[in-house]
Amino acid sequence: MPGFELFGDEEKKEVQDVLDNGVLMRYGFDPMRNGHYKALELEKDLAKKMQTKHAQVVSSGTAALTVALACAEIGSGDEVIMPTFTFVASFEAILSVGAVPVLCDIDDTLTLDPKAVANLVTEKTKAIMPVHMCGSMADLKALKDICEKHNLILLEDACQAIGGTYDGKPLGSYGDLGCFSFDFVKTITCGEGGAIVTDSSLFADRSHKYHDHGHDHVGNDRGAETHPFLGYNYRLSELHAAVGIAQLRKLDDTIALQKKHYTILRDAISTIPEVTFRRVPDTGVESYAFLTIFLPTEDLARKTHKSLGAHGVDACFYWYDNNWHYYKKWEHLIEQKSLGKLSDEIQAGLKKNLKSFDSSDAWMSRTISCLIKLKWTEEEINQRASNMVTAIQSIL
Ligand SMILES: *Cc1c(COP(=O)(O)O)cnc(C)c1O
Repeated sequence: MPGFELFGDEEKKEVQDVLDNGVLMRYGFDPMRNGHYKALELEKDLAKKMQTKHAQVVSSGTAALTVALACAEIGSGDEVIMPTFTFVASFEAILSVGAVPVLCDIDDTLTLDPKAVANLVTEKTKAIMPVHMCGSMADLKALKDICEKHNLILLEDACQAIGGTYDGKPLGSYGDLGCFSFDFVKTITCGEGGAIVTDSSLFADRSHKYHDHGHDHVGNDRGAETHPFLGYNYRLSELHAAVGIAQLRKLDDTIALQKKHYTILRDAISTIPEVTFRRVPDTGVESYAFLTIFLPTEDLARKTHKSLGAHGVDACFYWYDNNWHYYKKWEHLIEQKSLGKLSDEIQAGLKKNLKSFDSSDAWMSRTISCLIKLKWTEEEINQRASNMVTAIQSIL
């Protein structure tokens, strides 16, 4: 997954353009720019690549989720349904607009279980936020049907799955809004950064204003612009955007490389009957950022995880015990350890919703995900495949 593995002269050249003119900010200073508008260029490239009408770059993936929620008019007391397996950014963004995160079970796709989602919809629900974890996607058609039935927003978190597709569409472009992260460990990196994609001109118009203090961006005197509604500062700098431009050009090659490496490893492990693979919904194509397997029991998964490490197979994750990606370790959320007071609605909502999720536990306790790296040599990948097989077979 990590785009930083391919950081090279192409990124340096784009950054040099910005260093040469010295305009590090995306707005204003037109005479000094020598024609370089890196954030704008990245937005155009991204919209084209994601086959959406609009793209808005922002300072992080978390910012992208926050801006997307704000654009969809989600605010105080509204409920947003999110999965138990994700990154903490999901509930951070929801809380930051004053809404209530409603955790929901996952299924064997390791993303939102549509049946569990349907059971959680209330009068207060405003959006469903599937998170396409580890390179594969939620059952988007089923989720869209629920959204259409109840008039909800479908907000895709595609931060870990850029380059995958569903029903022939790039992940992120299927819902009303889609979000990407360009942080340092993602498939495309700017160092820090993120983006929102949408076909809605209303959401696009709100997002450029909201992410820049509510600026209307009319005319060429920033100080004289008006502020039609409240906003924040989630701008991406020109330096970061410059890196993203070069990285995005490498996306197709990156995905092809991930697919090649993933396939070699998967073919090797497929010879072990006890190992099964995560389900990819019909019409879905992974980004191949991770290879994710199920072991028959929690005990065997724990042993396999240890054994992989002992056999020199690095970058394999047992998410069930992870501090950042699974609800069990989010005691700061569960115990509401907030620096300032949370609203009464959030306090009550969290108390009601945060329980144990047996179905999620049943899948996650048996899951191991291995990161697919880009720079493995043929020898390294073959060695890795053989080490994985040995490591797993040794505990079965
Ligand atoms: C990385 C990530 C984010 C947040 O991105 P940042 O750019 O680090 O803020 C959100 N959701 C998921 C699933 C992620 O993996």
